[in-house]
Amino acid sequence: MIKLHDKYFKPFVSAKEIDAALQRMANEIAADVGDEIPVFVGVLNGSFMVVSDFVKKYPKPCEVTFIKLASYEGVKSSDDIQRLIGLTQDLTGRTVIILEDIIDTGKTLAEIHRIFKNENVKALKIATLFYKPEAYKKDFKLHYIGIEIPNKFIVGYGLDYDGLGRDLPEVYQIKQTQHMTNLVLFGPPGAGKGTQAEFLKEKYNLVHISTGDVFRYNMKNDTALGMLAKSFIEKGQLVPDQVTIDMLNAEVEKNADANGFIFDGFPRTNAQAEALDKLMDSKDSQINAMIALEVDDEVLVKRLLERGKTSGRKDDADETVIRNRIKVYYDETAILKDYYAAQDKYFGVDGIGGIEEITERLSTVINKL
Ligand code: AMP
Repeated sequence: MIKLHDKYFKPFVSAKEIDAALQRMANEIAADVGDEIPVFVGVLNGSFMVVSDFVKKYPKPCEVTFIKLASYEGVKSSDDIQRLIGLTQDLTGRTVIILEDIIDTGKTLAEIHRIFKNENVKALKIATLFYKPEAYKKDFKLHYIGIEIPNKFIVGYGLDYDGLGRDLPEVYQIKQTQHMTNLVLFGPPGAGKGTQAEFLKEKYNLVHISTGDVFRYNMKNDTALGMLAKSFIEKGQLVPDQVTIDMLNAEVEKNADANGFIFDGFPRTNAQAEALDKLMDSKDSQINAMIALEVDDEVLVKRLLERGKTSGRKDDADETVIRNRIKVYYDETAILKDYYAAQDKYFGVDGIGGIEEITERLSTVINKL
């Protein structure tokens, strides 16, 4: 991932893929042109890299020249293209091939056709490395296309974002969501995840998603999801993965503009951790850290029985259910420590002490991310 000015970009087309596309175009054009010597016309600024690499691959003699066009900055009219350097040689009777880095709306192309209207060239052909079919609004034929791309902003390989990025040897795409901080708050039942999440979400402006809370809300409102989850929850067992994963995805989608998330009670299995990675990936984001609150079992049992007196939670009232939840944690969930440790994302924090003191310990980890 790279940052240019205020925006983040992710790798999109590698130098190798660009190289292969240019090679293909060079071969195709050479075959069509035959023994004639074509004039390749680069459109500055963006096409300087394309032209340089393309002509090195062109297998036969050719000529190279440039024109320089620019859009009028800040002017709404979409056809306002300024001609900064026009043609500087007579191209009468020649086969001219325009080399573009990218064609999106096609407004530059309209100006190019205006430039060549009275030049009496033998043929005018258009070649472009990148083409955005969804954005293209003109009818001019495009003779040679390297790579079709979706209608997303790209930089690199001659293309810039406000002046930066032209020098990059590969192409990057703008990130869908800009910078997010995503935390997994981890630990056995009763470790204090919910309590701490309430403080951290305010402090770091994050959205807190507790899968346990979402299940309880659904149970309280007798939704289909609530009824399905109820039998598992009351025994202290895990709700099946697919049900939980679908619910979590929906909760994240409800908060599409979030600065980031605190996941509390999720993931609890490997399948859930993998689903979470996939979800974050679809948002061009990732889990930054798993922060685990470490608390002794006997302290947990005591805390949960105490909480059960006021929480109204059936699974907090019965010591057997509580012990089963802790057992499930060690049998099924604790393995996730390895999952995140393998990515250097696991941070253990002592979960015994005053609430504020523990918030401080957690903040120390988060501030270093
Ligand atoms: P919690 O409030 O996190 O202790 O969750 C209460 C109960 O909800 C758990 O004992 C499970 O039955 C269920 N639950 C919560 N999150 C998950 C999850 N990620 N996967 C499966 N079951 C869950």
